[in-house]
Amino acid sequence: MARIGILTCSNATQDLGCSSVSCLADLRKRKGAFADYPAEQKLDLVGIINCPGCPTLTGPDKLLQRIRALTEFRIDAIHFSNCVKALCPFKEQYKKALNEAFPTITIVIGTHQEHISPEEFRQRVKKLFCQPKKTMVDMILDKD
Ligand code: SF4
Repeated sequence: MARIGILTCSNATQDLGCSSVSCLADLRKRKGAFADYPAEQKLDLVGIINCPGCPTLTGPDKLLQRIRALTEFRIDAIHFSNCVKALCPFKEQYKKALNEAFPTITIVIGTHQEHISPEEFRQRVKKLFCQPKKTMVDMILDKD
């Protein structure tokens, strides 16, 4: 049995409202990055956590603290979700830091099967972020 944890991007989950539904579907169906496990090996999803937000000057330190939510529970592998894979400029730095801190845990970049290219994914996410959105500012200025 492989005990799996998933790390997601806060931009996708907290800001844009992704419930990790595609990652979980392909884990169940053993597609995408989950197709690489031997067929006879059962996959056990132990936990999912979003990253602590873009790290500013602290680098991976914030993540190393937060990832305990997975690493304290006998995890064999941590998958970086496809949103981390496509969006995160720190993913290689994170992978290196996790490899060093948790040498027995396999770090995999990717989860579900990719239906669009990473570039198209980035463009579509950018569009979501850039769409006009009313905020408290509009209420304060009486423009809501
Ligand atoms: S881009 Fe990277 S550091 Fe920023 S929120 Fe997403 S996963 Fe976290």
